[in-house]
Amino acid sequence: MSHQPVIDGFEFASAGATQEGKLPLSSFPRLQDVLVSDAGDVTYALRGVRDGRGRPSLQLSVRGTLQLRCQRCLGVLLHEVQAEQLLVLAASQAEIDAEPAAVDAPDRVLAGKEMALRELVEDELILSLPYAPRHEECEAHPEGSDSGSDRARSSPFAGLRGMMQRKH
Ligand SMILES: [Zn+2]
Repeated sequence: MSHQPVIDGFEFASAGATQEGKLPLSSFPRLQDVLVSDAGDVTYALRGVRDGRGRPSLQLSVRGTLQLRCQRCLGVLLHEVQAEQLLVLAASQAEIDAEPAAVDAPDRVLAGKEMALRELVEDELILSLPYAPRHEECEAHPEGSDSGSDRARSSPFAGLRGMMQRKH
């Protein structure tokens, strides 16, 4: 199960292709710092579509459950991911940079001949992370008190967001 599915972005979009599958949580290196456990899978579905302006795009949906650490009680917090994202393909970074900034502008992604599905899915999972994961109401977790010093640390998600931004 260690295959690495890749797609040719423009070809996939033009053909209206679809691909569905599962990826183990252990295959996302950028998530490992925030996961309490990397057991389990996420399922994804990718469809080649066109956006409202006729541009080749990828419609990505990602579903799964991540086990995060509650920053208040340090217990396990189950984070359900149900993400839908339209990624409008671009032929070059210059095309992305030329896009006027708009609140409702779709996400752009650089098309490639061998786009790794795993990375598209991983980006989506990272974007879905809460900035400071917390239970709405914490239960008593006396076993968490031995690592109380964690509370003072800054959110590990801040670093992840920084990594995401580097790509854009
Ligand atoms: Zn909690």
